[in-house]
Amino acid sequence: MRALVKASAAPGFVLKDVPVPTYRDDEVLIRVKAAGVCGTDVHIHEWDAWAQGRCKPPFVVGHEFAGVVEKVGSLVTDVKVGERVTAEGHIVCGHCHLCRTGNAHVCPNTKIIGVDRDGAFADYIAMPATNVWHLDDNIPFEIGGIHDPMGNAFHTALHGTDLPGATVLVTGCGPIGIFAVGIAKAAGASHIVASDVNPKRLELARRMGAHSAVHPKDAEAAVKAATHGLGVDVVLEMSGVPAAIHQGFALVRVGGRVQMLGIPAKPMDVDFATEVIFKGITVYGVVGRRMYDTWIQRTQFLRAGQFDPTPVITHRFPLEQHAEAIAVIKSGEAGKVVFEIS
Ligand code: NAD
Ligand code: ZN
Repeated sequence: MRALVKASAAPGFVLKDVPVPTYRDDEVLIRVKAAGVCGTDVHIHEWDAWAQGRCKPPFVVGHEFAGVVEKVGSLVTDVKVGERVTAEGHIVCGHCHLCRTGNAHVCPNTKIIGVDRDGAFADYIAMPATNVWHLDDNIPFEIGGIHDPMGNAFHTALHGTDLPGATVLVTGCGPIGIFAVGIAKAAGASHIVASDVNPKRLELARRMGAHSAVHPKDAEAAVKAATHGLGVDVVLEMSGVPAAIHQGFALVRVGGRVQMLGIPAKPMDVDFATEVIFKGITVYGVVGRRMYDTWIQRTQFLRAGQFDPTPVITHRFPLEQHAEAIAVIKSGEAGKVVFEIS
């Protein structure tokens, strides 16, 4: 089969023929139809310090995908050949303290497809049956193929936030931030301010329902105007940029909530006394998607037609154009980029 491979400990990917993966008795083999390309794939492509510390080439890249079940292992009972599926890409142990207390998203034994084991930029991928998620008939493969980052946005926007009627600031309108704008809107937020330095991304945020989408220098004025000077009830921090994180702490109201998804590239200073403690705020660190509350909530939003992620997909490529896909993400001009695989 064709697979996009991180072949060696150096920058780049290689598209090559590799054997179809073997699958265990409790796993299924999935023919990949569509697969989202993520910032993480760019880190692996560039072979930056994070990738060098984490990844062990050679392996097949890609962790966001959807497809059709081709084969099932002998112990699999609830997934059938021919079904349209996506999957949770974090493979957890199922027996640790976290897994057994409903917090498998932070399982310390997590293995991520396309990072720690072979991934989805290929004609086929093997997945544990317990990670498989069925797609409704009306959900296109390309939407199934972006369930991973969309799930990050659902987790960030909905976990503990009490959004109906809330005022919200989304800092960072990358693909995940733009999803979050649409989700907050669908969940009943009364006013959403979105910030980014990139005008194209602000335009996408407006399309997804932001009441105002502004450069960070204008975010304070937009928040103050929308909240009678109080500050927003909820900040969804989707950039990982220190200036945006500080701005989120500054513009959340006293007693509000900051949901932190964006990952700063290196350690940063926070004045906990003034930014967190004396504001009485709650800070929630987001890891991936809650298993499987996030998946259930998202399926219900999509089923009800409350939220349509389609406008976030701006580019589609065959696997052969992997260099173009990486380049357009690096340019900062794209929303979500998807490989159309078979
Ligand atoms: P992205 O890099 O495409 O988006 C970040 C956006 O922030 C960009 O559009 C950038 O222009 C914008 N930005 C830069 N400076 C800003 C500022 N001062 N104020 C507001 N916006 C600013 O990333 P993405 O793929 O949408 O992911 C968002 C973040 O989430 C990244 O940091 C990524 O590493 C992280 N992430 C976290 C998890 C998790 O489980 N915690 C999972 C996936 C991604
Ligand atoms: Zn575990």
